[in-house]
Amino acid sequence: MVVANAVRMAHQFILPRLANARTVVDATAGNGNDTLFLAENTPDATTVFAFDIQQQGLSKTETLLTGRNLRHKVRLILDSHSHLNKYLHQQLDAVMFNLGYLPGSDHKLSTNPATTIEAAHQALQLLNIGGVMTIAVYPGYEHGRLECQAVYEYLAILNQKVFSVACWSMVNQKNNPPLLYVIEKIRSEPLEGIT
Ligand code: SAM
Repeated sequence: MVVANAVRMAHQFILPRLANARTVVDATAGNGNDTLFLAENTPDATTVFAFDIQQQGLSKTETLLTGRNLRHKVRLILDSHSHLNKYLHQQLDAVMFNLGYLPGSDHKLSTNPATTIEAAHQALQLLNIGGVMTIAVYPGYEHGRLECQAVYEYLAILNQKVFSVACWSMVNQKNNPPLLYVIEKIRSEPLEGIT
């Protein structure tokens, strides 16, 4: 394992779950790096669902996938991840969120706490036992700090008998580096309430 940054650590936490995965999700496709990672490391029969609200991001993702001959594995969805359950009813093996905004695009099109938490909630209900969700958050700017806080407050009250929830961060970097939340479903039960 390489100790690097939240995005690379997300790949390292997710990778072991991909060898037998059937359905995986990139909830924030952006430039397509995470979608490509999921498509490259899953069996050919796996479907990767990739959401983004910006066509610009999905087009970049499509180009990246086409160049690697992986386009056929991916459903690109131009919609908010908060509508995830419109598209997905099957069990999920891995789900990735990389919050914030598309570098070089309008910051107003950043993820926001309400839709992020709605999407995470829907995805956690579909997560397989043994499945993993990662959420990379960016507390280094005000909107990101508030989103990070909201995500923490949501995750902190998940039933510990059902989910293992961890937070990974670099501790010797300046300016509030990104954090990574890692959630594993360990058994099937209602989501809320630590008992
Ligand atoms: N995973 C990307 C990559 O590998 O390049 C980076 C993602 S970027 C930090 C965050 C993305 O989330 C942006 O492309 C933005 O358009 C998208 N986004 C913002 N709100 C969203 C929403 N409600 N549903 C889906 N995507 C959203």
